[in-house]
Amino acid sequence: MKLAILSRDKSLYSTHALYQAGVDKGHEVHVIDYVRCHMEITSMRPAIFLGSQKLDGFDAIIPRIGASYTFFGCAVVRQFEMMGVYSVNESVAISRARDKLRSLQLLARKGIGLPVTGFAHDPRATDALIDQVGGAPLVIKLIEGTQGVGVVLAETRQAAESVIEAFRGLNANILAQEYIKEAKGADIRCLVVGGKVVAAMKRQSKEGEFRSNLHRGGSASVVKITPEERSTAVRAAGILGLNVAGVDLLRSNHGPLVMEVNSSPGLEGIQTTTGKDIAGMIVDFIEKQVSRKKSTRTKGKG
Ligand code: ADP
Repeated sequence: MKLAILSRDKSLYSTHALYQAGVDKGHEVHVIDYVRCHMEITSMRPAIFLGSQKLDGFDAIIPRIGASYTFFGCAVVRQFEMMGVYSVNESVAISRARDKLRSLQLLARKGIGLPVTGFAHDPRATDALIDQVGGAPLVIKLIEGTQGVGVVLAETRQAAESVIEAFRGLNANILAQEYIKEAKGADIRCLVVGGKVVAAMKRQSKEGEFRSNLHRGGSASVVKITPEERSTAVRAAGILGLNVAGVDLLRSNHGPLVMEVNSSPGLEGIQTTTGKDIAGMIVDFIEKQVSRKKSTRTKGKG
């Protein structure tokens, strides 16, 4: 296969792991800085370029779109899709997953367990919003935040009101969420590839912190997940339309609750913790999809 990894930086752990997995399995692999691409949107002849070079002949792409480039990155992925190139995660699924509110709405509709979550615009709704999620303590999140930045635990109602007011003053969109105290600062990251959980780890926050993100000093360990956690993670990835996803779960008194579904899950933490070759599994999955697509096409023509 001729494979492109859409990533800003070749030296990033996940990008490098995917590159190496592709090369080891005998594929031609290119790492493309998608932010530097430009697209020609012409009827019947969609094309994509990096400088003067036309990006042609790819069988599949692996998008690793950074949070700050979601809009442009998704347009690049879509352009490849228009050209008939297989993308392991489709552009529409990546956009869905990037919008926390949209994802939660879609998951809720299908009955996936979620922490009770509220969203409001009008400052007059603040009181009702806090009540809706069960009062203090509660979690307030910036809709556009990543890696735990903009996720605040408000211990009292007053603190919650001040934080909501401060974020509003900055014109930021926020969610209010029930605080899952019994999770004790831990969450479970499930790595889903092709409708299966292929690895899982538990992330525990450091002392005095409720956010378990590894970037916030959390530590990771191998965890055995329950069948319910497994099926919740698989269903959540499926509802958003992601073939590759990192599904974050909180262990609550009433079963697993989905906190977030990530469309470009980092591979470093999960591979080093579990010792599993997730990059290799992603490439194997793509191989299967691409060969299936080709045979279907031939069948159609024949
Ligand atoms: P980000 O996408 O920025 O990582 P998350 O929504 O995943 O933000 O939250 C960061 C961390 O905060 C989570 O990994 C979890 O440990 C903790 N956390 C988030 N929401 C809740 C909640 N409702 N109850 C308890 N802990 C939470």
